[in-house]
Amino acid sequence: MTQAYPLIIDGMSVSTDNHLDVINPADGRTFALCPAGTSADLDRAVAAARRAFPGWAATPDADRKAAVNALADILDANAGELAELITREQGKTLSGLGSQWELGGAAAWTRYTAALDLPVEYIQDDAQGRVALYRKPIGVVASITPWNFPVMIAIWHIMPALRAGNTVVIKPSPYTPIATLRMVELMQQALPPGVLNAVAGSDDLGRAISSHPDIDKIVFTGSTRTGKHVMASASDSLKRLTLELGGNDAAIVLPDVDLDSAVEKLFWGAFINNGQVCAAIKRLYVHDSIYDELCDRLLDYARNVKTGDGMSPDSQLGTVQNKMQFERVKMLVEAAKASGARVLCGGAPIEGDGLFYPVTLLADVKEGMAIVDEEQFGPALPIIRYTDLDDAVARANDNPNGLGGSVWSSDTDKAVAIASRLECGSAWINNHAMVRPDAPFGGVKQSGIGVEFGKLGLAEFTTVQVIHQ
Ligand code: NDP
Repeated sequence: MTQAYPLIIDGMSVSTDNHLDVINPADGRTFALCPAGTSADLDRAVAAARRAFPGWAATPDADRKAAVNALADILDANAGELAELITREQGKTLSGLGSQWELGGAAAWTRYTAALDLPVEYIQDDAQGRVALYRKPIGVVASITPWNFPVMIAIWHIMPALRAGNTVVIKPSPYTPIATLRMVELMQQALPPGVLNAVAGSDDLGRAISSHPDIDKIVFTGSTRTGKHVMASASDSLKRLTLELGGNDAAIVLPDVDLDSAVEKLFWGAFINNGQVCAAIKRLYVHDSIYDELCDRLLDYARNVKTGDGMSPDSQLGTVQNKMQFERVKMLVEAAKASGARVLCGGAPIEGDGLFYPVTLLADVKEGMAIVDEEQFGPALPIIRYTDLDDAVARANDNPNGLGGSVWSSDTDKAVAIASRLECGSAWINNHAMVRPDAPFGGVKQSGIGVEFGKLGLAEFTTVQVIHQ
């Protein structure tokens, strides 16, 4: 029988009368049942978080640190079960850069966040007086997570919120709710009731969250379009926001790049998680003098990457996560082909029941094609030719997104100088999307508001109080 999962409210597993099918994108079949939570369930979860807040906020810092570390232990102890749930609902591979890797990252991020401190800062402390800046928790934080890294992104939202003394209600994506629900259920062992709650369902819960009068902050990862809706409805009660939204990251490859070491990193910078990563390479700008050689080398590399069922150890890439995204990638590639793009490999779905789309490299593409101008969020990479570096930088910046970017060159100083001209929140040299728990990560322009990770990320889950004495 297909297993039905509960909501987690006030420390308890709560069954619902109705359920939603959760589809395994590798075979199109229902593999689990998601509880169909309603806005009344959301109200109960928010009320539980509200009740739990004063006690959790007043818990000694060392105890909260210990609790967050205990959550990392729970992730480690249950990594096998959670990784398998991710692969079944998300479609990514279990091994390689897949769900086991996601679980390892989630535990490491949790431990790093547990160790962070936001001590009192003394602005003045002398015979004339003392002015001290305190960081206080905000209250009830709602987390709305996407379907590309269901556990990792949940951890990015939950852990700094809890570490800083907030209580949390998380709502996972309706496409991938199961690993999150199970994780939150397991985590109840280490937390007082109501500190961490999880709701899921079909009752427009997202909208109900962003307009809920008793939620103090929303942390949302997803599309720019939905991020704007969150921001609009959050304005009623002036909720605090962290929005990590879409990206259309450009990588600029200079003629002096060391191709031997760059090809593999460029490939995975674009195709990790099948390109379903906010900060993946989505536009690859390559200098004319090395354009053909780099296309050939990427093609050689791509030929050895196997797309298949995520449960199989032979697969290096799994499925596109959902039908909507699958159709979008298909449409963008078809439109590019119709406008003259040259397909180096892939270019059409793999026949069968699963949402398998092969690695697709598109040459002779340019701005004006939707696959360049818009975020494709899938396994199709447009490779764009440039001759003048300033022109390439201008074209890279001529986009409403500003999440990540990268510059590839043997001359690191020159690469850093170019990177500093990119309009993006994170830029990498000879690498891409290498996020880390101690380095703030966030978007400029329409890629978001605020940052995650590190002390600055933790501070986003606090309000400032200055006491003048
Ligand atoms: P969205 O970004 O549109 O987010 C959908 C989620 O937002 C659901 O949980 C939904 O909840 C919630 N939601 C919808 N409306 C509101 C609202 N007004 N207030 C609060 N929450 C709301 O995801 P999609 O799956 O539709 O993906 C669309 C695109 O987003 C992709 O093509 C991709 O480009 C991008 N994306 C970016 C990601 C990233 O990491 N930055 C991750 C995933 C996707 P409910 O179901 O209750 O309505």
